Amino acid sequence: MSKDFNNKKASSSLVEAFLNSKQEEQVVAAIVAAEKETSGEIRVHLENFDTSFIKEQSGVDLTPKEMVYQRAQQVFEILEMQNTMQRNGVLIYVAVNLRQFVVYGDYGINQKVSADFWSSTCNVISKYFKNKEFSKGLIMGISEIGTVLSTYFPYKEGEDIDELDNQISRLDG
Ligand code: CA
Ligand code: CA
Repeated sequence: MSKDFNNKKASSSLVEAFLNSKQEEQVVAAIVAAEKETSGEIRVHLENFDTSFIKEQSGVDLTPKEMVYQRAQQVFEILEMQNTMQRNGVLIYVAVNLRQFVVYGDYGINQKVSADFWSSTCNVISKYFKNKEFSKGLIMGISEIGTVLSTYFPYKEGEDIDELDNQISRLDG
């Protein structure tokens, strides 16, 4: 599931400018809080995405949305987010330069829910991103992910392990 959030020209400093350090702390705090509701693990990745890279790899014509989705899947693997016991990691991937994002959930989640499971989460994030409220969008999205995952993957007090790093991942290029 992916969404546009508007159309402005790209710049290499966009990844750094996307969140200031205070906002970054708030986003990480939202991840920590959401992971107290569910055994699911949430990460955020920000980057400038060069679409020609995916074009070469896939060898077929993909729409920009499909390319961003494929890249999200790739980043999920690069960050080794499949390394959770219940395969319940969720990546919020943001292609800052393209003004697009994807909520990508692992196999364990997709086994239990319908394909449009992330649509309400995407709508929440999209609503804030359109107003350039990026940290708010991420925070609200992360909170929503925690809530929706808690039904299928409840938090187990005293047993929970922080399986994936809560820090924001960035690739500036
Ligand atoms: Ca955990
Ligand atoms: Ca974590």
